[in-house]
Amino acid sequence: MTTTVITNIGSLVTNDPALGDGTPIGLLQDAAVVIDGDRIAWVGPNADAPAADEAVDAAGRAVIPGFVDSHSHLLFAGDRTQEFNARMSGRAYTAGGIRTTVAATRAASDEALEANLTHYLREALRQGTTTFETKSGYGLTVEDEARALRIAARHTDEITYLGAHIVPPDYADDPAAYVALVTGEMLDACAPYARWVDVFCEKGAFDGDQARAILTAGKAKGLHPRVHANQLSYGPGVQLAVELDAASADHCTHLTDADVDALASSETVATLLPGAEFSTRAEWPDARRLLDAGVTVALSTDCNPGSSFTSSVPFCIALAVRDMKMTPDEAIWSATAGGARALRRTDIGRITPGARADLVLLDAPSHVHLAYRPGVPLVSDVWRQGKRCP
Ligand SMILES: [Zn+2]
Repeated sequence: MTTTVITNIGSLVTNDPALGDGTPIGLLQDAAVVIDGDRIAWVGPNADAPAADEAVDAAGRAVIPGFVDSHSHLLFAGDRTQEFNARMSGRAYTAGGIRTTVAATRAASDEALEANLTHYLREALRQGTTTFETKSGYGLTVEDEARALRIAARHTDEITYLGAHIVPPDYADDPAAYVALVTGEMLDACAPYARWVDVFCEKGAFDGDQARAILTAGKAKGLHPRVHANQLSYGPGVQLAVELDAASADHCTHLTDADVDALASSETVATLLPGAEFSTRAEWPDARRLLDAGVTVALSTDCNPGSSFTSSVPFCIALAVRDMKMTPDEAIWSATAGGARALRRTDIGRITPGARADLVLLDAPSHVHLAYRPGVPLVSDVWRQGKRCP
């Protein structure tokens, strides 16, 4: 197996307090990293770096773990430029816009859906994302949901069944029948491809009782829950996520003190998705309140054609620092180790011996530049599973 040593790293984020300066991001100055095959083999001071088959000189620049984007919706067709344009011209966002994408997705061929998916995956990889989760939710028929997950399964292991994204127009008069489909035939068709089950628990989508039925049925089929919770309004989503041991409650924009307390005393991560608030001119989630209460916070893109059409984790980091009052250290942790926690993974989101060799070399001396220089393409090189990406 080929080994590679990256030398002269000015600033290395390991996310291992024991390896670095004792902070949660485990910062090491003047460091080196050795990759062996698809794993990190060695991390330490540059002066002690062992020899390897290949050498890369970081020339004083920063290296960080590859981003773990634990929330995206990339199985779709069409776009919603006009809706965005209208919203930016003063019209309020409602969950109903999803129906536009559902119609386009149903009409698309398998080839078109997969080509769209790989287009956005390449885009994300170029921006440093080395692990991504993605969901169904724009098919909303047994066949269309299953084919979305079948296509996704060729590209990632982190696949989420989101048949309960909205009640489709064909079931508008009988939502109970749609919940029966989502917990029955559709679940049976989708479960073989998925690791996770998700529900959009929100006014206009699915209420607490419906969400509980959907997540419980998914659990019975071996899927692990995650929840779109408390995005547009207060509601039962977060409490339900904690009660069912969901890996993550996603959005968390409207939280009561009881919601924050429940998250703080659970293993459920709060995944914040500031691209959605940016793209809908909505109120930011209160990251500071969650962090100060001891909640584990992840940062992800929510990349989807309606409410957050960005694949850029660096952009989300900049928003989180500027507008959600996260420190640059907290934001980089949340976008790497936090994302790994939201996927219940221990092999990614850190640069430590034995971890998967997912690394990003920045054209900057420090990870702080991701927020300090917003909108600038600072990702220079990406290694995913030990392979340098072209
Ligand atoms: Zn989402």
